Amino acid sequence: MKIAILPGDGIGPEIMNEAVRVLNALGENFEMEWADVGGVGYANHGHPLPESTLKLAQEADAVLFGAVGDFKYDTLERALRPEQAILGLRKNLKLFANLRPAILYPELAGASTLKPEIVSGLNLLIVRELTGDIYFGQPRGRRAAPDGAFKGAVEGFDTMRYSEPEIRRIAHVGFQTAMKRGKKLTSVDKANVLETSQLWRETVIDVAKEYPEVKLDHMYVDNAAMQLVRAPKDLDVVLTGNIFGDILSDAAAMLTGSIGMLASASLDESGKGLYEPSHGSAPDIAGKGIANPLAQILSAAMMLRYSFNMNEQADRIESAIKKVLASGLRTGDIYEPGCQRVGTKEMGDAVVAAL
Ligand code: NAD
Repeated sequence: MKIAILPGDGIGPEIMNEAVRVLNALGENFEMEWADVGGVGYANHGHPLPESTLKLAQEADAVLFGAVGDFKYDTLERALRPEQAILGLRKNLKLFANLRPAILYPELAGASTLKPEIVSGLNLLIVRELTGDIYFGQPRGRRAAPDGAFKGAVEGFDTMRYSEPEIRRIAHVGFQTAMKRGKKLTSVDKANVLETSQLWRETVIDVAKEYPEVKLDHMYVDNAAMQLVRAPKDLDVVLTGNIFGDILSDAAAMLTGSIGMLASASLDESGKGLYEPSHGSAPDIAGKGIANPLAQILSAAMMLRYSFNMNEQADRIESAIKKVLASGLRTGDIYEPGCQRVGTKEMGDAVVAAL
């Protein structure tokens, strides 16, 4: 199992060190190779996604990614900005499925803006299609409005599109993910209004025949937004398209109140994936040794579960994290009075010890 380790910028290297220590502590035979990406890729090789880094990512069985970005690169032309590395990796590795869990450990229920009884113990996962939909659909652009009350005025337009095979492909990821969890899948669309969504719903219903054990239901996206804040614990795996998933996954992330705890995965058709924390490079705290490494460590656990089918080892990491939180250790971002405040390395030490 070869893992490309791409720490990136800001707090990336600090939190990646801890994730790698945790992986090493499992005593498995991982081959890990490190490479520059993002701002540090540009600084050392002239490009945020250097060729050698892309080659490594292509050869590896999985990519563990830190975070990229630094304000000092904000004046660069768009193609050279650190964030382009993520888009380049997604495109070149054909990553079309984004998995974002939102988990709220009962010990951290106070961090959410919602009442503890609504969110404590929350554990949902959003499966979002990443490469299609209105974000990429052609035609798009500006033109003189061809009709309507504002005929002739400048208008902007985009095209929402999904082909049946595209929907089928992401639906399989949704059902397979549900099989690894609670065997419950909620497909989110806007089939009461959109043609794209009607095809989405029909296709998901058809794919469901191959997964008789999974309980499937459907929700309109506006209702899904309501249910996310009303009764988020009723949701398990949520399957949706690119734009709806973009919005809902950020709302779900905020239910937990702690960005330093959220992992994510982007998968290709064969299950190879890129695993990264949902947060950015946090330049405001980089180099201070205070960043929360748990999202990065949980990303490594997701990698074991989804790319390597090592469920037992993934469970071990997640249980170790639960134990550490139960013992009262907190980095600054999740600190509450009465707990013990620790830095990045101490948090990593504690997870390794709990393992
Ligand atoms: P951010 O997620 O980096 O930080 C937002 C806030 O959360 C900051 O106050 C930060 O200190 C805090 N934070 C984030 N992760 C934390 C952690 N692990 N532990 C403790 N606190 C944490 O978002 P931002 O400030 O908007 O962006 C900073 C840079 O990151 C920008 O250059 C942006 O483009 C980039 N970015 C990269 C990614 C990515 O690599 N996938 C994602 C988002 C933003």
